Amino acid sequence: MITDVKGFEVLDSRGNPTVAAEVTLFDGCRAVAIAPSGASTGKFEAHELRDGDKRFNGKGVLKAVDNINTVIAPVLKTLGTLNQKVIDRELIKLDGTENKNRLGANAMLAVSMAVARATARHYRVPLYRYLGGISNLKMPRPMMNILNGGAHAANSIDIQEFMIVPDLGSFSENLRAGAEVYHALGTVLKTAGKSTGVGDEGGFSPDFSDDREVIEYIIKGISTAGYSTDNIKIALDVASSEWYKDGQYRLPKSKDNMTSSELCEKISALVRDYPIISVEDGMAEDDYTGWKNMTEKLGGRCMLVGDDLFVTNPKRLEKGIKEGLGNSILIKLNQIGTLSETLKVIAMAKQSGYTPIISHRSGESEDTFIADLAVAVSADYIKSGAPCRTDRTAKYNRLLKIEAEI
Ligand code: PGA
Ligand code: ZN
Repeated sequence: MITDVKGFEVLDSRGNPTVAAEVTLFDGCRAVAIAPSGASTGKFEAHELRDGDKRFNGKGVLKAVDNINTVIAPVLKTLGTLNQKVIDRELIKLDGTENKNRLGANAMLAVSMAVARATARHYRVPLYRYLGGISNLKMPRPMMNILNGGAHAANSIDIQEFMIVPDLGSFSENLRAGAEVYHALGTVLKTAGKSTGVGDEGGFSPDFSDDREVIEYIIKGISTAGYSTDNIKIALDVASSEWYKDGQYRLPKSKDNMTSSELCEKISALVRDYPIISVEDGMAEDDYTGWKNMTEKLGGRCMLVGDDLFVTNPKRLEKGIKEGLGNSILIKLNQIGTLSETLKVIAMAKQSGYTPIISHRSGESEDTFIADLAVAVSADYIKSGAPCRTDRTAKYNRLLKIEAEI
């Protein structure tokens, strides 16, 4: 049924190499998919295979591409099925490692997504409908990262993402409000003499004296655009795993040092003082005591999202559910490496009352797979950065098209 699988090395939104795969079926249906790539990568993520030689400062992916062409392709061509679960299981078996070290999660994911997209074409249905079936298709609310810090920007802010979450009704109304606030924020920053250059996810990235000043500016942007914090909320991705060493949080930019409970206090105060509905990675990926404390303290009033904590991994989510860590999970296909495992973890999350948030990576491409995935699994939220830069807006534009169709 699959007659050809080819790998390619292409560039991501940061100009680093990433893996593309093209899958061809017996009826001529053909599709391409591109694996994304993170910067503030969790240490429990599936392995992203890079060449480590002179090309692209070691970031080349020719080994991963070669794995597609010489290891994956010959096997998938003889499988005789389009069953995604069977194909993904075969990829996992071929790799044979716990962490997808051998083939590379980037190689496996590009193939896994391309298989799904080609199969949707074979059945002549849009990808979201192939993945989601006929019921429960739902538009997500955008979480738009309009101010970038941390590893995504060369500014003075340690928190990685300041997002706005509009709640005005339809997806297109939410997107419009988000874009209007983004532009208003740009004007407000410019008037204050601040830079309007952008970070990796399209959000502004000037220097600020502290996190509270950032949030005050965002609230000013919201009101300047004619909205209020009644219908446009704020979400943070603290990405605090980046700061965690030897049981201490050492913030690289402000040079602050904090214990786990001090950081928890600091974040709780922000949640108390501002309209924050979601905090991602408020605690580090292996600070389980910190996560438990934060969940007891804040879990009743806001979403506590595990990104580096869960890394889209069913085993890590299971541990989190058992131990009461967080109440929401960020979903990134390349953290686990196949579509089937991603769908499994989303189902697990929903069964346990955890809110799944479908997410891009800071290194992205023109691939819009996550837009279809978000609708297919009726996720409440999608994170795809600012309404700026084609790698980010491609997903939002795809969602506009889907909204018009459903
Ligand atoms: P990353 O950032 O893709 O650099 O990991 C996104 C996130 O942390 O949510
Ligand atoms: Zn994150």
